[in-house]
Amino acid sequence: MEDNIESSIDDRIENIYHIKRWGEGYFNVTSKGTLGVLPSKDPNGPCIDIQSVLQEIKQKNIQIPVVIRFHDILRSRVKILNESFNQKIKEANYKGHYVGVYPIKVNQMREVVEEVLDAGHEYRFGLEAGSKPELLSVLALNDNPESLIILNGYKDKDYLRLALLGRKLDKKTIVVIEKFSELTDLIDISKEMNVKPLIGFRTKTTVRGSGKWSESGGEKAKFGLSISEVINGFELLKKEDMLDCLELIHFHIGSQITNIRTVKDSVTEGARVYCELYKMGAQLKYIDVGGGLGVDYDGSQSTNDSSRNYDTDIYASDIIYSIMQICDLEKIPHPDIVSESGRAITAHHSCVVVEVIDKIDSTEVEYPGAFQVSDKEHILVKNIRTILEFINEENIQESFSDALAIKNDTENAFKLGVLSIREKATIETIFWKICKALKEKVKKMNFIPEDFENFSDKLSSQYLCNFSVFQSLPDTWAIDQLLPIVPLSKLNQIPQEKCTLVDITCDSDGKIDNFINLGDTKRTLPLHNFTKDENYYLGFFLTGAYQDVMGDMHNLFGRVNEVHVFLDDDSEDNFYIEEVIPGSSARYVLSQMQYNPDHLCYTIKKAIDKKVASKSITPRDGVRLIDFYEDCLNGYPYLKK
Ligand SMILES: *Cc1c(COP(=O)(O)O)cnc(C)c1O
Repeated sequence: MEDNIESSIDDRIENIYHIKRWGEGYFNVTSKGTLGVLPSKDPNGPCIDIQSVLQEIKQKNIQIPVVIRFHDILRSRVKILNESFNQKIKEANYKGHYVGVYPIKVNQMREVVEEVLDAGHEYRFGLEAGSKPELLSVLALNDNPESLIILNGYKDKDYLRLALLGRKLDKKTIVVIEKFSELTDLIDISKEMNVKPLIGFRTKTTVRGSGKWSESGGEKAKFGLSISEVINGFELLKKEDMLDCLELIHFHIGSQITNIRTVKDSVTEGARVYCELYKMGAQLKYIDVGGGLGVDYDGSQSTNDSSRNYDTDIYASDIIYSIMQICDLEKIPHPDIVSESGRAITAHHSCVVVEVIDKIDSTEVEYPGAFQVSDKEHILVKNIRTILEFINEENIQESFSDALAIKNDTENAFKLGVLSIREKATIETIFWKICKALKEKVKKMNFIPEDFENFSDKLSSQYLCNFSVFQSLPDTWAIDQLLPIVPLSKLNQIPQEKCTLVDITCDSDGKIDNFINLGDTKRTLPLHNFTKDENYYLGFFLTGAYQDVMGDMHNLFGRVNEVHVFLDDDSEDNFYIEEVIPGSSARYVLSQMQYNPDHLCYTIKKAIDKKVASKSITPRDGVRLIDFYEDCLNGYPYLKK
């Protein structure tokens, strides 16, 4: 019996947060009801309890919000991608190799890039850059001469010179031509520098992705050469006697491809271009299928924007078979396959941990005068009192709609001066009391009418969380990206409160009111009751791709503290914190906006000195206030508990 209850709580928690579905085996609920990380995806293997990590973070005096990176997950992702391709290549008896690259724009943090390179070394896993600064870092970081460096994005002459500097250092820097003039510039500069370039052509495919990034593909895409330009480029290289430099055909139809059908279509089209050029005499070696390998953010395994209807194995195998089929038909040797998966490599390894610091619920505050009944009351007040008095199982729906009507009438009556402010407060207080009474009644019903689903959203609370959406989850704000959000404790208790989340910026967009719900979305997230005397932490998961590096400084909330966690089987908690990267201080974010923090301090000091001189502040208080101002300047911009 005991067991049954236990497992039903587990199931109900899973039904609320879908941890198994989006977690890809990296996350579980521990026996303590906390959220655990399984870096090796093995439910019986070592587990890192995120609550223990938080405890250590606190001991180290690191403030929340904090980004926690699990480097073992990052390594696991690199391994899975490479081994998927290698395995499927073997099964298909495909003659080429897989030589993937990691596009660093997805997460440029040096530690992330180094970890990816290290984990990918045995697979000759390389890097992709899309801008000059990215190339500057990639040239220095990638020291594996066997791996590729793929260069995308619009390029000026210095970008091209840097690429050729790479060639001089025997690095496999392949310049992917995005627009035609880059090719003529590259030819000129390679002569000037006396070095042979490695060249790729990015083609515009007619196949487009679906979802949020579909504009990256198609004939009107921002990047890539049209078919005519591809042929002209081929002829130009031939004329310059540089045809042997052309090694790669590239296409990228967008990020987060939701439907595997689209992958197959675009690869088939790309493989056709490859074969045609090969037959014309280009000694091509690589097909680069770009990025787009999706992440199942909502766990629905569907073609929703936040999901995808395939996994890494299917992705690899469909790419391999599509290329093989075309090449075999045309009797062309199998090319090596390059992919530029970024999101799928980095998304899982990092999460943002925030603390719920307050509950904002205007329905909780009652006006005491509301319960002093008098006979001279306004009819609206009288009527709403009657509704409250007579609520029963049979009239739930009716009571709610009547109460709502009175509440709406009240708004108008108040504006017209018919109702006083005390009468309005009375009606609102009773209205929320009715709602709560109805909610209790509805809870006991087996079948909940649809009306009441919305109705309980009305009674949801806003949980105030100590973070900035704009800094930590920019895609949530910008493109309505859905991310899994889970409390890090109490996962052995059913949450009773329906919540939306608000951040601490002074911006009404700084909120989250859309949550994953297996292919659907829900307006509120069930969370546990908030009490001031305990710490309740929420984890925002799958934030390692793009979110980590795109955040902005809205309201001058800067980068958050960050800790890097590694698996350590020998320690009691299975982990150690390898590195702590402090977030931005207030001083730093201000200086980024052209303020001189020392000057700010000086100005405040002078103002205080003046007050001291005029004796309205004592000298001792004056010194204290100056010190305090300085402390805040050097401190963390987020709220202190
Ligand atoms: C952004 C980008 C990628 C990465 O795409 P993911 O969907 O994150 O894998 C790869 N290649 C190019 C050219 C890109 O612009």
